[in-house]
Amino acid sequence: MRLVLLGLPGAGKGTQAKRIAEKYHLTAISTGEMLREAAKEKDTFGLRVQEYMNKGELVPDEWINSLVKSRLQEKDVENGFVLDGYPRTLQQAKVLEAYLQSQNQNLDAVFFLDVSQDTLRHRLAQRGNLRSKEKQGNSQIEAKREKIRLDDKPEVIENRMRINKELTQPLVHFYKKRNLLHIINGESNPAQVFESINEVLSPLKREL
Ligand code: AMP
Repeated sequence: MRLVLLGLPGAGKGTQAKRIAEKYHLTAISTGEMLREAAKEKDTFGLRVQEYMNKGELVPDEWINSLVKSRLQEKDVENGFVLDGYPRTLQQAKVLEAYLQSQNQNLDAVFFLDVSQDTLRHRLAQRGNLRSKEKQGNSQIEAKREKIRLDDKPEVIENRMRINKELTQPLVHFYKKRNLLHIINGESNPAQVFESINEVLSPLKREL
C-alpha cells in the first residue's frame, strides 16, 4: 500500500505513521525527520535547511521533491510506504503523482488527521515545554528527548501553523477529487485514532 498522512503540525502524523508502518509492513517516511538528519550534517545544504526549519518555513519544493524521489527509489520502499509530512504543497502533490505514474504506481489512500487549532497549539506548546524543562536538567524529561524539537517554540509554532493551514486545504481538495481522501478525527488518543485509520485500511488491504 502507498499512503499519505496529511495534518497540521501536532496532529499526530508521526505517531500514526509509525503504527501504520508496523501493522501493515510499510516503510514510514517522514520528510521532517529526513530534513532534521540533513541539517545535522552542517554542510551548506544542511545549514540552509536548518534556517528554514528554525523559522518554521517550508524548504523549497525542488529540494524536498528530489529528496523524496530518491528516497522512494530505495529498496525498503518496494513493499509500500506511508508518507508523513509530504506532500505539503500542491506542487509537491503533483510531483508525487507524476513520479508514481512514471513508475506505474498510485496512492491507495490519503488520511487527513483533523484536529482543532486549540488542541494543536496545546500539544505543540507541551512539546516546547518539555524542551525548556530539559534545559533545566530534569532527568525524567530526558527520556522524551526524541520528541523535543527546536521548532516547537511559541513564535515558530504560530508560523508553522499559519503556513501549513493555508497550504493544507488545497491538498485536501486535490485528494478529495481523486477519491483518495479519508478525514479522520484526530482529537482523541493515539489508539483511538489508529482504530479509525484501521477501519479504512483493513478492507483496503483485503482488496489489494
Ligand atoms: P515536520 O516534522 O513534518 O513538522 O517538519 C518540520 C519542518 O521540516 C517543517 O517546518 C519544514 O521546515 C520542513 N519540512 C518538512 N516536510 C516538508 C515538506 N514536505 N516541504 C517543505 N518543508 C518541509
